[in-house]
Formats: sequence, structure tokens, C-alpha cells
Amino acid sequence: MSKIIVVGANHAGTAAINTILDQYPENEVVVYDRNSNISFLGCGMALWIGKQIPDGDGLFYCSKDVFESKGAKVFMETEVTAIDFDKKTLTVKSGAKEWQDTYDKLILATGSKPIFLPVPGADLKNIQFVKLYQNAKEVVEKLESDSSFKSIAVVGAGYIGVELAEAFRRIGKDVALIDLVPTVLGQYYDAPFRDLMARNLEDHGIRLALGEKVLSFTGKDGKVSGVVTDKREIAADMVIQCVGFKPNAPFENPKLTRHASGAYLVDKRQQTSIPDVYAIGDCATVFDTATRKDQYIALATNAVRSGIVAAHNAAGTALEHIGVQGSNGINIYNLKMVSTGLTVERASALGIPVDFSEYEDTQKPAFIQSENPPVKLRIVYRKDTREIIGAQMASEYDMHMGIHMFSLAIEERVTIDKLKLMDIFFLPHFNQPYNYITMAALSAK
Ligand SMILES: Cc1cc2nc3c(=O)[nH]c(=O)nc-3n(C[C@H](O)[C@H](O)[C@H](O)COP(=O)(O)OP(=O)(O)OC[C@H]3O[C@@H](n4cnc5c(N)ncnc54)[C@H](O)[C@@H]3O)c2cc1C
Repeated sequence: MSKIIVVGANHAGTAAINTILDQYPENEVVVYDRNSNISFLGCGMALWIGKQIPDGDGLFYCSKDVFESKGAKVFMETEVTAIDFDKKTLTVKSGAKEWQDTYDKLILATGSKPIFLPVPGADLKNIQFVKLYQNAKEVVEKLESDSSFKSIAVVGAGYIGVELAEAFRRIGKDVALIDLVPTVLGQYYDAPFRDLMARNLEDHGIRLALGEKVLSFTGKDGKVSGVVTDKREIAADMVIQCVGFKPNAPFENPKLTRHASGAYLVDKRQQTSIPDVYAIGDCATVFDTATRKDQYIALATNAVRSGIVAAHNAAGTALEHIGVQGSNGINIYNLKMVSTGLTVERASALGIPVDFSEYEDTQKPAFIQSENPPVKLRIVYRKDTREIIGAQMASEYDMHMGIHMFSLAIEERVTIDKLKLMDIFFLPHFNQPYNYITMAALSAK
């Protein structure tokens, strides 16, 4: 039996805690989290703001009570302020109270924090961050209580910015989406896919200010009134800052190895470079099977899987993480885009020689006249080994399950040639005999 302390109880921590409590109940589990809630699904924030769901109450799937009913000691609104990794002790603070605790095994699940744009005016009122339940609630409450919020500027056109731009537009706001790079969703898609999304946003009245650098925020009576870019000033009653997240990994020790991103560098068992100390979720690296390197990819899906792996190892069962591909999806005004692994552009930037094969066709045969929109697919593969290292799909059809096959293909190092004659069944209700996956593979150089 060990005393296992988990610091941070959001997605990664929750997965680890539940795995230990359910499968290794002989251990003593102590949980510290500085927040007042557990397991908030940030992905639901845009749905809540855009009134596609009635409120934020359903965006939680676990609680302190659940952990306590299974025997854990849980301290909410309690911050771990220091860790002595040599003595295996933690300093913990809750309000005015401070105390020490000791562990046999430690799981760090302290997550990530929003990147702050350090420009003049950044402390003006109504410049909002979007990370916690409390952040989303504040935005919703401000918008509901004050009809003078008419124009919203969203800074950052990654998947969170794009989702929020849609959400504000859905509730009738005048929305500008600003980004330094001249594109939306730059990290996840190549140009033909990004252009589809950009057009989709513009068609729905979202103003794009791409390739524009934010220089400052202007204000009136202490409240934000505009965003000054290197090209113009954009009026805004509220600004949402979502330019990205960085690891929240504050604990130092000369023996604790870090990744260039600042995340704790972990092995496939989620172990840090210090024995008995594990790191999971957004504060840790993951093994990326597309680049075959440790990377920083902050996603709830990665957090949950890493939590499960760490829990087994901390409880004494050796288990290795199989790695991730950064698989992701987005659905904006019914345009669904999913991707996994590397784009052509990212692979090229990393010096990986790649080719790609693309195909677009309706999901089902032409004689099926309903629910049969076109699907666009791009498969990215290495020139040298012909291994698949990325895929992107776009459609109004819900084809998202297709991307999971590509995730597995990357993980298992499947070549583009293997896909050519792969057994893909045919039924007109679902797909075509010469379907877009087969056709893209067959047309690979
Ligand atoms: C708006 C939004 C939308 C998103 N959409 C998606 C999506 O669709 N799909 C997806 O996969 N991912 C999505 N993500 C990313 C996902 O939310 C994160 O990857 C995930 O939250 C990481 O979980 P985590 O537990 O590692 O870290 P976090 O969620 O950051 O949690 C860390 C926890 O540690 C606690 N903590 C930190 N420091 C201390 C300390 N010193 N002492 C005590 N407690 C501490 C914090 O209070 C917090 O509860 C989204 C994120 C946002 C913000």
C-alpha cells in the first residue's frame, strides 16, 4: 500500500484518481486542487455562450463527493505551494492555513495556463480569458446582464477562438476574429481546409482580421473599447484572449527534467526524471507518434489517457502509453473538420519529407439524394518510408469516425500502400465502393 498524492483534479487528475480508487483501493489517495470545482469540460464553453445548451451545469462529470465516496481525502481550494522532492514533502495552503504533507508516490496534474498578451491596456475591464468554469460564467453573466456588449473581438484563431467566434455570432454579436498568422486553425490543417473554414466564418458574418498583430487595447472609463493591430483599430466592448496555453509546471528541482515548452518531460509510464513522481495532462509531455518525439500537445483526451497510465504505474502495475497523434475535431455552423498527425506544412517545417494524396467525393453513391454531401480527405505520408503521418477531413457529413482509423494508422506505422486494398465494406446507406479513402490511397504517387 502506498500513499499517493495527486496535485490537480481536473481531467488528468480525475482520470488518475478514479483509476486508483476503482482498481487499487488498498492505496491511500490524497487530492489537492486550488479550484472549487472538478472536471469542467472547457469544450462546452462555446456551446454555453452560444446558447446551444441551456447552461453550464452539465459540463461536469465528476465531483469531490465521488472521490470521497470511494475513500479519497480531497482538499479543494487548497494550493500546493512547494514540493521538496528529496524529502517527499509538500507545502499546502488553504486560506490562512498552511501545512506539510508527505507522499510515497506523487502525481502532478497541474495543467496549463492561458498565454497572456503583454500589450498596453491588457488590464482593462472586459478583457476575458477562457479556461475555467468561472471564466465562462463571468462572460455569460456579463452578456446577459448588459445589452451594451455589442461587439466582441476574439484574439487567437485556433480551435478555441474559432468556436468562440461562432458562439458570439450565434447570439447576435458583431464579431471580429484576430490572429497574427494569416489563417485560421493554422496548426491543424493545410491551406485548402483552412480556407474552407475561413470562408464559412465569413459567410456567417464573422469579420476576419488575419495576419494582424495586436499592439494594444484601448479603453474608456477603465473598460476595453478596442483592439489596436498593426493595420487598424477594431472596436470591441469585450475582448476574448485565447492565443494559446502553456504548461503550468511551477515546481522546481535540479533533477526534474523539462521539455523546451516548460512541461515536465515524462517517459511512456508518465514518470518524470525523479523516482516516484509522475506528471500527466497539460503539465507534461506526450509521445507523438507522427514525429516519434516527445511533444507538448494540450488536449483533454491526452490528459485522460495519461492519467490512467500514471495511475496504474503509481499503483504498481507497469503500463506504457502508446502515444498520441494530436487528433482533433471542430464543428462550426455544421462544417465539420477533423485531423490527426502532421499537416504537409508542419511536416515540411520540421524537415520531414512528405507527399500527400487528396480526394473529394460524396459520402454515398450519387443515387442517394439525401444526407449525401461531399467529403474532402487529405492523407499525408512520408516520402522515404511511405508511412502515413497525418490526415485531414472536411464535410457537412458527420464523417468524424473516419479520422480514428488514421490515428491508429499513424500509431501503427501503416503505409499509404496498405490502405489501397484495405477491406472497406460497401453499403449505399453508408458509403461508396470506390470510397474516398480507397481512392485517395490509390491515387498516391
Ligand atoms: C475553451 C476550451 C476548450 C477546449 N476544448 C477541448 C476539446 O474540445 N477537446 C480536447 O481534447 N481538449 C479541449 N481543451 C483542452 C483541455 O481542456 C485541456 O487539455 C485539459 O483541461 C487538460 O486537463 P488537465 O487536467 O491536464 O489540466 P487543467 O484542466 O489545466 O487542470 C489542472 C488542475 O490543476 C489544479 N492546480 C494547478 N496548480 C495547482 C496547485 N499548485 N495546487 C493545487 N491545484 C493546482 C487546477 O486548479 C486545475 O483544476 C479545451 C480547453 C479550453 C480552455
